[in-house]
Amino acid sequence: MAVSHAPLKNPQTQPRSISVLGSTGSIGCNTVDLLESNQNAFTVEALTAGSNWKLLAEQAIKLGASVAVINDESAYDDLKNALSGTKIKACAGEAALVEAASMPSDMVVASIVGAAGLKPTMEAAKRGAMVALANKECLVSAGELLLAEVSKGGATLIPVDSEHSAIFQVFDFDNPKSVAGITLTASGGPFRELSLAEMADVTPERALKHPNWDMGAKISIDSATMMNKGLEIIEAFHLFPVALEAIEVLVHPQSVVHSLVSYVDGSVLAQMGTPDMRTPIAYALAWPGRMKAPSKMLSLADVGRLDFEAPDEERFPALRLARQALQTGKSAPTILNAANEIAVAAFLQGRVGFLQIAEIVESVLETVDSSAMGSLDDVLAIDDEARKVALSLINT
Ligand code: NAD
Ligand code: MG
Repeated sequence: MAVSHAPLKNPQTQPRSISVLGSTGSIGCNTVDLLESNQNAFTVEALTAGSNWKLLAEQAIKLGASVAVINDESAYDDLKNALSGTKIKACAGEAALVEAASMPSDMVVASIVGAAGLKPTMEAAKRGAMVALANKECLVSAGELLLAEVSKGGATLIPVDSEHSAIFQVFDFDNPKSVAGITLTASGGPFRELSLAEMADVTPERALKHPNWDMGAKISIDSATMMNKGLEIIEAFHLFPVALEAIEVLVHPQSVVHSLVSYVDGSVLAQMGTPDMRTPIAYALAWPGRMKAPSKMLSLADVGRLDFEAPDEERFPALRLARQALQTGKSAPTILNAANEIAVAAFLQGRVGFLQIAEIVESVLETVDSSAMGSLDDVLAIDDEARKVALSLINT
Protein backbone atom coordinates (compact mmCIF):
# COMPACT_ATOMS: atom_id res chain seq x y z
CA MET A 1 0.00 0.00 0.00
CA ALA A 2 1.39 3.37 -1.02
CA VAL A 3 -0.32 5.63 1.46
CA SER A 4 0.97 5.34 5.01
CA HIS A 5 -1.05 6.44 8.00
CA ALA A 6 1.56 7.86 10.35
CA PRO A 7 0.38 9.35 13.67
CA LEU A 8 -0.31 13.01 13.07
CA LYS A 9 -0.63 16.24 14.96
CA ASN A 10 -4.15 17.49 15.43
CA PRO A 11 -4.41 20.85 13.62
CA GLN A 12 -7.12 21.99 16.02
CA THR A 13 -4.89 21.84 19.08
CA GLN A 14 -1.47 22.58 17.66
CA PRO A 15 -0.74 24.86 14.70
CA ARG A 16 0.38 22.78 11.74
CA SER A 17 3.32 24.31 9.85
CA ILE A 18 2.95 24.39 6.08
CA SER A 19 4.91 25.23 2.94
CA VAL A 20 3.06 25.80 -0.33
CA LEU A 21 4.89 25.07 -3.59
CA GLY A 22 3.18 26.94 -6.43
CA SER A 23 1.19 29.27 -4.15
CA THR A 24 0.25 31.69 -6.95
CA GLY A 25 -1.59 29.13 -9.10
CA SER A 26 -5.21 28.03 -8.98
CA ILE A 27 -4.66 25.36 -6.28
CA GLY A 28 -2.08 27.59 -4.57
CA CYS A 29 -4.42 30.60 -4.28
CA ASN A 30 -7.25 28.44 -2.94
CA THR A 31 -4.82 27.01 -0.39
CA VAL A 32 -3.63 30.49 0.63
CA ASP A 33 -7.28 31.59 1.10
CA LEU A 34 -7.97 28.60 3.35
CA LEU A 35 -4.81 29.25 5.37
CA GLU A 36 -5.70 32.93 5.72
CA SER A 37 -9.14 32.18 7.11
CA ASN A 38 -7.74 29.58 9.54
CA GLN A 39 -4.66 31.39 10.84
CA ASN A 40 -4.93 29.85 14.33
CA ALA A 41 -4.56 26.34 12.95
CA PHE A 42 -1.55 26.92 10.66
CA THR A 43 1.80 28.63 10.48
CA VAL A 44 3.43 29.21 7.09
CA GLU A 45 7.08 28.45 6.37
CA ALA A 46 7.79 28.78 2.64
CA LEU A 47 5.72 29.96 -0.31
CA THR A 48 7.04 29.47 -3.86
CA ALA A 49 6.04 30.67 -7.33
CA GLY A 50 7.21 30.52 -10.93
CA SER A 51 7.40 34.18 -11.93
CA ASN A 52 4.56 36.18 -10.31
CA TRP A 53 6.69 37.93 -7.65
CA LYS A 54 4.01 40.52 -6.88
CA LEU A 55 1.33 38.03 -5.84
CA LEU A 56 3.93 35.89 -4.07
CA ALA A 57 5.06 38.88 -1.96
CA GLU A 58 1.44 39.79 -1.12
CA GLN A 59 0.69 36.22 -0.04
CA ALA A 60 3.89 35.95 2.03
CA ILE A 61 3.13 39.20 3.88
CA LYS A 62 -0.53 38.25 4.42
CA LEU A 63 0.36 34.85 5.89
CA GLY A 64 3.56 35.91 7.70
CA ALA A 65 5.65 33.32 5.82
CA SER A 66 9.33 32.86 6.72
CA VAL A 67 10.57 32.48 3.13
CA ALA A 68 9.33 33.40 -0.37
CA VAL A 69 10.99 31.73 -3.35
CA ILE A 70 10.64 32.74 -6.97
CA ASN A 71 11.82 30.29 -9.62
CA ASP A 72 12.51 33.03 -12.18
CA GLU A 73 15.85 34.48 -11.07
CA SER A 74 15.30 37.71 -13.02
CA ALA A 75 12.42 38.51 -10.61
CA TYR A 76 14.63 38.26 -7.50
CA ASP A 77 15.26 42.03 -7.10
CA ASP A 78 11.56 42.83 -7.47
CA LEU A 79 10.63 40.20 -4.88
CA LYS A 80 13.34 41.38 -2.48
CA ASN A 81 12.19 45.01 -2.80
CA ALA A 82 8.55 44.04 -2.30
CA LEU A 83 9.52 42.23 0.93
CA SER A 84 11.87 44.92 2.26
CA GLY A 85 10.95 46.03 5.77
CA THR A 86 9.54 42.56 6.58
CA LYS A 87 11.29 39.58 8.14
CA ILE A 88 10.48 37.41 5.11
CA LYS A 89 13.54 36.06 3.32
CA ALA A 90 13.50 36.35 -0.49
CA CYS A 91 15.19 33.63 -2.56
CA ALA A 92 15.29 32.72 -6.26
CA GLY A 93 16.11 29.84 -8.57
CA GLU A 94 15.55 26.12 -8.81
CA ALA A 95 17.94 25.17 -6.00
CA ALA A 96 16.13 27.55 -3.64
CA LEU A 97 12.84 25.91 -4.61
CA VAL A 98 14.18 22.52 -3.57
CA GLU A 99 15.58 24.07 -0.38
CA ALA A 100 12.13 25.49 0.42
CA ALA A 101 10.71 21.97 0.28
CA SER A 102 13.46 20.72 2.57
CA MET A 103 12.82 23.36 5.26
CA PRO A 104 11.23 21.81 8.32
CA SER A 105 7.43 21.94 8.13
CA ASP A 106 4.71 19.43 9.01
CA MET A 107 3.17 19.61 5.56
CA VAL A 108 4.11 20.57 2.02
CA VAL A 109 1.35 21.41 -0.44
CA ALA A 110 2.73 20.30 -3.83
CA SER A 111 0.84 22.51 -6.28
CA ILE A 112 3.39 23.33 -8.96
CA VAL A 113 2.14 22.33 -12.42
CA GLY A 114 3.99 19.70 -14.44
CA ALA A 115 7.26 17.82 -14.02
CA ALA A 116 8.78 21.15 -12.84
CA GLY A 117 7.46 20.15 -9.40
CA LEU A 118 9.31 16.85 -9.33
CA LYS A 119 12.52 17.79 -7.48
CA PRO A 120 10.93 19.80 -4.65
CA THR A 121 8.17 17.21 -4.16
CA MET A 122 10.78 14.43 -3.95
CA GLU A 123 12.65 16.52 -1.39
CA ALA A 124 9.55 16.89 0.79
CA ALA A 125 8.94 13.13 0.61
CA LYS A 126 12.56 12.38 1.43
CA ARG A 127 12.44 14.31 4.70
CA GLY A 128 9.22 12.57 5.80
CA ALA A 129 6.78 15.47 5.49
CA MET A 130 3.06 15.11 4.96
CA VAL A 131 2.69 15.89 1.28
CA ALA A 132 -0.66 17.26 0.12
CA LEU A 133 -0.26 16.30 -3.52
CA ALA A 134 -2.01 18.27 -6.26
CA ASN A 135 0.88 17.97 -8.74
CA LYS A 136 -0.26 14.71 -10.38
CA GLU A 137 2.46 14.90 -13.05
CA CYS A 138 4.98 13.94 -10.31
CA LEU A 139 3.25 10.61 -9.73
CA VAL A 140 2.81 10.01 -13.46
CA SER A 141 6.40 10.84 -14.32
CA ALA A 142 8.19 9.28 -11.37
CA GLY A 143 5.57 7.25 -9.47
CA GLU A 144 7.77 4.40 -8.29
CA LEU A 145 10.66 6.63 -7.27
CA LEU A 146 8.42 9.07 -5.45
CA LEU A 147 6.70 6.25 -3.57
CA ALA A 148 10.07 4.76 -2.66
CA GLU A 149 11.10 8.13 -1.16
CA VAL A 150 7.76 8.37 0.66
CA SER A 151 8.27 4.99 2.20
CA LYS A 152 11.98 5.48 3.01
CA GLY A 153 11.40 8.93 4.49
CA GLY A 154 8.26 7.92 6.40
CA ALA A 155 6.29 10.58 4.55
CA THR A 156 2.51 10.58 4.09
CA LEU A 157 0.89 11.33 0.74
CA ILE A 158 -2.52 12.95 0.94
CA PRO A 159 -4.19 13.45 -2.43
CA VAL A 160 -5.62 16.86 -3.31
CA ASP A 161 -6.97 15.92 -6.75
CA SER A 162 -10.74 15.79 -6.18
CA GLU A 163 -11.21 12.22 -7.47
CA HIS A 164 -8.33 10.85 -5.43
CA SER A 165 -9.41 12.78 -2.36
CA ALA A 166 -12.85 11.18 -2.79
CA ILE A 167 -11.37 7.68 -3.03
CA PHE A 168 -9.00 8.38 -0.13
CA GLN A 169 -12.03 9.32 1.99
CA VAL A 170 -13.98 6.10 1.31
CA PHE A 171 -11.26 3.50 0.68
CA ASP A 172 -10.88 0.85 3.39
CA PHE A 173 -7.07 0.86 3.65
CA ASP A 174 -7.24 -1.70 6.50
CA ASN A 175 -8.99 -4.22 4.24
CA PRO A 176 -7.75 -3.55 0.71
CA LYS A 177 -8.86 -7.03 -0.40
CA SER A 178 -12.47 -6.02 0.27
CA VAL A 179 -12.19 -3.47 -2.55
CA ALA A 180 -13.38 -4.77 -5.93
CA GLY A 181 -12.48 -1.64 -7.89
CA ILE A 182 -12.46 2.13 -8.06
CA THR A 183 -14.23 4.46 -10.45
CA LEU A 184 -12.85 7.88 -11.35
CA THR A 185 -15.56 10.27 -12.44
CA ALA A 186 -14.85 12.75 -15.25
CA SER A 187 -16.86 15.79 -16.26
CA GLY A 188 -16.06 15.02 -19.90
CA GLY A 189 -14.74 18.58 -20.32
CA PRO A 190 -16.02 21.30 -22.65
CA PHE A 191 -16.04 19.03 -25.74
CA ARG A 192 -17.92 16.08 -24.29
CA GLU A 193 -20.57 16.27 -27.00
CA LEU A 194 -18.38 17.32 -29.94
CA SER A 195 -17.55 15.02 -32.86
CA LEU A 196 -13.90 14.52 -33.87
CA ALA A 197 -14.51 16.74 -36.91
CA GLU A 198 -15.84 19.51 -34.67
CA MET A 199 -12.90 19.15 -32.29
CA ALA A 200 -10.41 19.56 -35.13
CA ASP A 201 -10.58 23.35 -35.13
CA VAL A 202 -11.44 24.34 -31.58
CA THR A 203 -9.45 27.31 -30.30
CA PRO A 204 -7.42 27.44 -27.06
CA GLU A 205 -9.95 30.01 -25.72
CA ARG A 206 -12.79 27.52 -26.14
CA ALA A 207 -10.76 24.65 -24.72
CA LEU A 208 -9.86 26.73 -21.65
CA LYS A 209 -13.53 27.20 -20.72
CA HIS A 210 -14.24 24.27 -18.45
CA PRO A 211 -17.94 23.77 -17.68
CA ASN A 212 -17.56 23.02 -13.92
CA TRP A 213 -14.07 23.81 -12.62
CA ASP A 214 -11.95 26.97 -12.65
CA MET A 215 -8.37 25.73 -13.05
CA GLY A 216 -4.91 26.56 -14.45
CA ALA A 217 -4.38 26.50 -18.23
CA LYS A 218 -2.54 23.18 -18.50
CA ILE A 219 -5.05 21.09 -16.56
CA SER A 220 -7.94 22.82 -18.37
CA ILE A 221 -6.56 21.63 -21.72
CA ASP A 222 -5.88 18.19 -20.22
CA SER A 223 -9.54 18.08 -19.18
CA ALA A 224 -10.65 18.98 -22.70
CA THR A 225 -8.55 16.15 -24.24
CA MET A 226 -9.37 13.89 -21.25
CA MET A 227 -5.62 13.35 -20.82
CA ASN A 228 -6.33 14.66 -17.33
CA LYS A 229 -8.35 11.51 -16.63
CA GLY A 230 -5.59 9.42 -18.22
CA LEU A 231 -3.03 11.00 -15.89
CA GLU A 232 -5.46 10.40 -13.01
CA ILE A 233 -5.68 6.67 -13.83
CA ILE A 234 -1.89 6.49 -13.40
CA GLU A 235 -2.09 8.66 -10.27
CA ALA A 236 -4.74 6.34 -8.77
CA PHE A 237 -2.70 3.27 -9.63
CA HIS A 238 0.17 4.61 -7.53
CA LEU A 239 -1.94 5.93 -4.66
CA PHE A 240 -4.27 3.00 -4.07
CA PRO A 241 -3.62 -0.74 -3.81
CA VAL A 242 -5.69 -1.75 -6.87
CA ALA A 243 -4.82 -3.36 -10.21
CA LEU A 244 -4.97 -1.29 -13.40
CA GLU A 245 -7.92 -3.39 -14.64
CA ALA A 246 -9.85 -2.44 -11.48
CA ILE A 247 -9.66 1.30 -12.27
CA GLU A 248 -12.61 2.55 -14.31
CA VAL A 249 -13.56 5.93 -15.70
CA LEU A 250 -17.15 7.16 -15.78
CA VAL A 251 -18.27 10.40 -17.38
CA HIS A 252 -20.46 12.40 -15.01
CA PRO A 253 -21.17 15.88 -16.40
CA GLN A 254 -22.42 17.45 -13.13
CA SER A 255 -19.14 16.77 -11.20
CA VAL A 256 -21.04 16.10 -7.97
CA VAL A 257 -20.00 12.48 -7.34
CA HIS A 258 -16.24 12.93 -7.15
CA SER A 259 -15.38 9.20 -7.40
CA LEU A 260 -16.45 5.79 -6.12
CA VAL A 261 -15.06 2.67 -4.46
CA SER A 262 -16.81 -0.67 -5.11
CA TYR A 263 -16.59 -3.42 -2.49
CA VAL A 264 -16.77 -7.20 -2.96
CA ASP A 265 -20.22 -7.37 -1.29
CA GLY A 266 -21.73 -5.08 -3.93
CA SER A 267 -21.62 -1.88 -1.85
CA VAL A 268 -20.43 1.23 -3.68
CA LEU A 269 -19.22 4.17 -1.57
CA ALA A 270 -18.94 7.65 -3.07
CA GLN A 271 -17.86 11.07 -1.86
CA MET A 272 -19.96 13.99 -3.11
CA GLY A 273 -19.87 17.76 -2.98
CA THR A 274 -20.22 20.85 -5.12
CA PRO A 275 -17.36 21.15 -7.64
CA ASP A 276 -15.07 23.38 -5.57
CA MET A 277 -11.39 22.52 -5.04
CA ARG A 278 -11.46 24.19 -1.63
CA THR A 279 -13.17 21.05 -0.29
CA PRO A 280 -10.43 18.52 -1.20
CA ILE A 281 -7.72 21.06 -0.34
CA ALA A 282 -9.29 21.64 3.10
CA TYR A 283 -9.57 17.88 3.57
CA ALA A 284 -5.83 17.47 2.91
CA LEU A 285 -4.82 20.47 5.05
CA ALA A 286 -6.74 19.23 8.09
CA TRP A 287 -6.28 15.47 7.63
CA PRO A 288 -7.00 13.36 9.64
CA GLY A 289 -9.42 15.97 11.00
CA ARG A 290 -11.67 18.31 9.08
CA MET A 291 -11.85 22.07 8.84
CA LYS A 292 -14.46 24.53 7.66
CA ALA A 293 -14.27 25.50 3.99
CA PRO A 294 -16.28 28.18 2.21
CA SER A 295 -17.45 25.78 -0.53
CA LYS A 296 -21.19 25.93 -1.25
CA MET A 297 -22.98 23.05 0.50
CA LEU A 298 -24.35 20.43 -1.89
CA SER A 299 -28.13 20.41 -2.34
CA LEU A 300 -29.14 17.31 -4.26
CA ALA A 301 -32.68 18.68 -4.54
CA ASP A 302 -31.26 21.70 -6.43
CA VAL A 303 -29.04 19.49 -8.59
CA GLY A 304 -32.13 17.38 -9.38
CA ARG A 305 -30.45 14.71 -11.49
CA LEU A 306 -27.09 13.04 -11.85
CA ASP A 307 -26.05 11.62 -15.23
CA PHE A 308 -23.44 9.02 -16.02
CA GLU A 309 -22.09 7.61 -19.30
CA ALA A 310 -19.18 5.47 -20.46
CA PRO A 311 -16.19 7.41 -21.84
CA ASP A 312 -15.60 7.39 -25.60
CA GLU A 313 -11.98 6.40 -26.26
CA GLU A 314 -12.37 7.00 -30.02
CA ARG A 315 -13.01 10.70 -29.55
CA PHE A 316 -10.73 10.92 -26.50
CA PRO A 317 -7.71 8.71 -27.37
CA ALA A 318 -5.68 10.18 -24.48
CA LEU A 319 -7.46 7.76 -22.13
CA ARG A 320 -6.24 4.78 -24.13
CA LEU A 321 -2.71 6.20 -24.41
CA ALA A 322 -2.42 6.66 -20.65
CA ARG A 323 -3.61 3.11 -19.95
CA GLN A 324 -1.19 1.73 -22.55
CA ALA A 325 1.70 3.72 -21.07
CA LEU A 326 0.97 2.32 -17.62
CA GLN A 327 0.76 -1.20 -19.05
CA THR A 328 4.07 -0.75 -20.90
CA GLY A 329 5.58 0.51 -17.66
CA LYS A 330 9.18 1.61 -17.02
CA SER A 331 9.60 5.07 -18.53
CA ALA A 332 6.48 5.06 -20.75
CA PRO A 333 4.38 7.18 -18.34
CA THR A 334 7.30 9.66 -18.07
CA ILE A 335 7.39 9.89 -21.87
CA LEU A 336 3.59 10.30 -22.05
CA ASN A 337 3.66 13.12 -19.50
CA ALA A 338 6.58 15.01 -21.05
CA ALA A 339 5.17 14.76 -24.60
CA ASN A 340 1.78 15.92 -23.34
CA GLU A 341 3.28 18.95 -21.56
CA ILE A 342 5.00 20.03 -24.77
CA ALA A 343 1.95 19.35 -26.96
CA VAL A 344 -0.39 21.27 -24.62
CA ALA A 345 1.99 24.25 -24.55
CA ALA A 346 2.17 24.19 -28.37
CA PHE A 347 -1.64 24.08 -28.61
CA LEU A 348 -1.93 27.04 -26.22
CA GLN A 349 0.54 28.95 -28.44
CA GLY A 350 -1.57 28.16 -31.53
CA ARG A 351 1.19 26.05 -33.06
CA VAL A 352 -0.75 22.77 -33.28
CA GLY A 353 -4.42 21.85 -33.48
CA PHE A 354 -6.42 20.30 -30.65
CA LEU A 355 -6.45 16.76 -32.08
CA GLN A 356 -2.71 16.88 -32.64
CA ILE A 357 -2.10 16.88 -28.88
CA ALA A 358 -2.92 13.16 -28.58
CA GLU A 359 -1.28 12.43 -31.96
CA ILE A 360 2.00 13.96 -30.78
CA VAL A 361 1.86 12.01 -27.51
CA GLU A 362 1.23 8.77 -29.43
CA SER A 363 4.10 9.42 -31.88
CA VAL A 364 6.54 10.21 -29.07
CA LEU A 365 5.52 7.03 -27.25
CA GLU A 366 6.21 5.09 -30.46
CA THR A 367 9.57 6.80 -31.04
CA VAL A 368 11.19 6.80 -27.60
CA ASP A 369 11.80 3.33 -26.18
CA SER A 370 10.61 2.64 -22.68
CA SER A 371 13.59 2.00 -20.42
CA ALA A 372 14.20 1.28 -16.74
CA MET A 373 14.63 4.29 -14.45
CA GLY A 374 16.64 3.84 -11.28
CA SER A 375 17.08 7.45 -10.20
CA LEU A 376 15.65 10.94 -10.51
CA ASP A 377 18.42 11.73 -12.99
CA ASP A 378 17.16 8.89 -15.21
CA VAL A 379 13.65 10.34 -15.05
CA LEU A 380 14.89 13.82 -15.93
CA ALA A 381 16.98 12.46 -18.85
CA ILE A 382 13.99 10.55 -20.31
CA ASP A 383 11.72 13.53 -19.72
CA ASP A 384 14.18 15.73 -21.62
CA GLU A 385 14.51 13.29 -24.51
CA ALA A 386 10.72 12.95 -24.88
CA ARG A 387 10.34 16.76 -24.85
CA LYS A 388 12.94 17.08 -27.63
CA VAL A 389 11.22 14.45 -29.79
CA ALA A 390 7.84 16.15 -29.23
CA LEU A 391 9.31 19.53 -30.19
CA SER A 392 10.88 18.09 -33.33
CA LEU A 393 7.47 16.75 -34.39
CA ILE A 394 5.91 20.16 -33.79
CA ASN A 395 8.63 22.02 -35.68
CA THR A 396 8.45 19.86 -38.83
P1 NAD B 1 -1.52 26.84 -12.27
O1 NAD B 1 -0.92 26.96 -13.61
O2 NAD B 1 -2.69 27.68 -11.94
O3 NAD B 1 -0.39 27.11 -11.14
C1 NAD B 1 0.85 26.50 -11.17
C2 NAD B 1 1.78 27.02 -10.08
O4 NAD B 1 3.08 26.46 -10.33
C3 NAD B 1 1.94 28.54 -10.08
O5 NAD B 1 2.18 28.99 -8.76
C4 NAD B 1 3.21 28.75 -10.92
O6 NAD B 1 3.88 29.95 -10.61
C5 NAD B 1 4.03 27.53 -10.50
N1 NAD B 1 4.99 27.13 -11.52
C6 NAD B 1 4.75 26.92 -12.84
N2 NAD B 1 5.88 26.54 -13.46
C7 NAD B 1 6.85 26.52 -12.54
C8 NAD B 1 8.24 26.21 -12.57
N3 NAD B 1 8.87 25.87 -13.71
N4 NAD B 1 8.93 26.26 -11.42
C9 NAD B 1 8.34 26.62 -10.27
N5 NAD B 1 7.04 26.93 -10.17
C10 NAD B 1 6.29 26.88 -11.29
O7 NAD B 1 -1.86 25.29 -12.05
P2 NAD B 1 -3.01 24.64 -11.15
O8 NAD B 1 -4.26 24.55 -11.94
O9 NAD B 1 -3.03 25.27 -9.81
O10 NAD B 1 -2.48 23.15 -11.02
C11 NAD B 1 -1.39 22.80 -10.20
C12 NAD B 1 -1.31 21.29 -10.12
O11 NAD B 1 -2.47 20.80 -9.46
C13 NAD B 1 -1.28 20.60 -11.48
O12 NAD B 1 -0.45 19.48 -11.42
C14 NAD B 1 -2.72 20.17 -11.70
O13 NAD B 1 -2.83 19.03 -12.52
C15 NAD B 1 -3.15 19.86 -10.27
N6 NAD B 1 -4.59 19.99 -10.06
C16 NAD B 1 -5.18 21.20 -10.24
C17 NAD B 1 -6.55 21.33 -10.05
C18 NAD B 1 -7.23 22.68 -10.20
O14 NAD B 1 -8.42 22.78 -9.90
N7 NAD B 1 -6.55 23.71 -10.62
C19 NAD B 1 -7.32 20.21 -9.68
C20 NAD B 1 -6.67 18.99 -9.49
C21 NAD B 1 -5.30 18.88 -9.68
MG1 MG C 1 -9.09 15.67 -10.85
